[in-house]
Amino acid sequence: MTQDTGSTPLSPTSPSGRDTFDSLNPATGVVVGTHPVHTADDVQAAVTRARDEAAWWSGLSHDQRCAHLLAWKGVITRALADLAEVVHRETGKPHGDATLEIALAIDHLSWAATHAERTLKRRRMSSGLLMANQAASLEYCPLGVVGVIGPWNYPVFTPMGSIVYALAAGNAVVFKPSELTPGVGEWLARTFLESVGRPVLQVVTGLGETGAALCHTGVDKVAFTGSTATGRRVMAACSETLTPVIIEAGGKDAVIVDADADLDAAADATLWGACANAGQTCIGVERVYVHERVYDAFLETLVAKARDVHADDSPGALLGPITMPGQLDVIRSHIQDAIDRGGRAVLGGPDAVGERYVQPTILVDVPEDSLAVQEETFGPTVTVARVSSMTEAITRTNATRYGLGSTVFSRSRGMEIAERIRSGMTAVNGVITFAAIPSLPFGGVGDSGFGRIHGADGLKEFTYAKAIARQRFKPVIALTSFARTAADEQRLTRVLTLLHGRKGTVRDEAGKAGVA
Ligand code: NDP
Repeated sequence: MTQDTGSTPLSPTSPSGRDTFDSLNPATGVVVGTHPVHTADDVQAAVTRARDEAAWWSGLSHDQRCAHLLAWKGVITRALADLAEVVHRETGKPHGDATLEIALAIDHLSWAATHAERTLKRRRMSSGLLMANQAASLEYCPLGVVGVIGPWNYPVFTPMGSIVYALAAGNAVVFKPSELTPGVGEWLARTFLESVGRPVLQVVTGLGETGAALCHTGVDKVAFTGSTATGRRVMAACSETLTPVIIEAGGKDAVIVDADADLDAAADATLWGACANAGQTCIGVERVYVHERVYDAFLETLVAKARDVHADDSPGALLGPITMPGQLDVIRSHIQDAIDRGGRAVLGGPDAVGERYVQPTILVDVPEDSLAVQEETFGPTVTVARVSSMTEAITRTNATRYGLGSTVFSRSRGMEIAERIRSGMTAVNGVITFAAIPSLPFGGVGDSGFGRIHGADGLKEFTYAKAIARQRFKPVIALTSFARTAADEQRLTRVLTLLHGRKGTVRDEAGKAGVA
């Protein structure tokens, strides 16, 4: 989302002579905090410092790192209300939503800390019959320094998905938060330092240039979360130094509702998935495909529920403002485009887009090639379409360039449908549930990016595999020596034929066996 920002441009230079920028409360426009614009030199200095921290941190045992991370977890948990207030002020999201994202991040921190050793420590591997004289083993080693670039929409949960897994795997981290949520980044780095006593996690603040600088510092990996467009720029910059990247980018997630689904539950989940956090969720629901037998009943239930959900500045409001003002134009243009192409708003519509808030909008009869179906809207809007079969629902779900999350509501065929959707994650009879399960990897395919955070895959993502083959006794056949003889080679061929030369059985589509 690079069109516009909710922070002010550079503020006058501070008394220290450093450029600063302000973060604003998107509900009021009031300045929440003033932060330094870290230059390329500042970022390089942070990475150099991180190298020393990485040496110390990776030298600790898994147990010692786990103890530090769990202590930090306690600090965050006890100060949860304070952090939620910072999130609320910088993003405008209701306190309840801020609390939920922090709670999930705490659970991930706990899981990463307590599962790093068993996931990454050296383990024995089978060496196979040919190399039976070798003891094979594998360990996952920390990369060194990881640069994390985060978005503003879930300023705790999303970057922590990279930060805590990178830390638990033994790396130091330099974190560049979004310019809309620098205070959250500073809060995390400050509490880490207070808890651990060393800046293994550092934060650098600033605008896009500060993030770009991080890509050029020679960090050992960049974990980027943000829009697909910026992800491309990050990848291009990292390619210059062959720095590996994880790209967690946008989505256009769909809900599929089968004829036998629990319609009330499906409507409830669709509404929350589409509108929570004012729709500014990478794995938010933006499209729904409903079996024609239950389409009318589903739509009626969804609209009835959505009428009770409003975005405003009252203390009990379920939806907050749109955090990034420039996004209002994107949301408005997607709704208008849908209507111009023959779609209808059964709730909301172009007028639902105000100066800071957007009311829930439900669109029907929207052509599949319209913006509201193909592009990430990032607002509390959803398109609902009628399908004649689950095969049609799956085909239409898969027909975007994104592939992040998805949802299926079906009593009898949930797993079957889920397996046919091209997306990194799918929730069956629930919504966004996979993100809250620390053991499950999180990430997408296509324009939603690549690489995984969370779970064992997320820990391994911040490591390199170190394989060791140790000779236990002399080999029967000396294969890796110029002393190898013609007789050795014949013996090898005989062993190979015994091991791998058997004819296989391949069955055709009718199940008839043939020999290959
Ligand atoms: P952006 O792509 O605009 O920004 C993401 C981060 O990149 C920010 O910290 C930004 O800094 C920084 N940045 C901007 N330009 C550069 C550059 N040239 N080099 C390096 N870093 C740069 O995304 P948003 O912050 O608007 O976040 C919303 C997007 O994030 C949505 O598309 C959403 O779907 C996606 N997202 C994906 C998730 C996932 O896990 N797949 C999770 C959450 C969000 P600055 O803010 O200072 O410009």
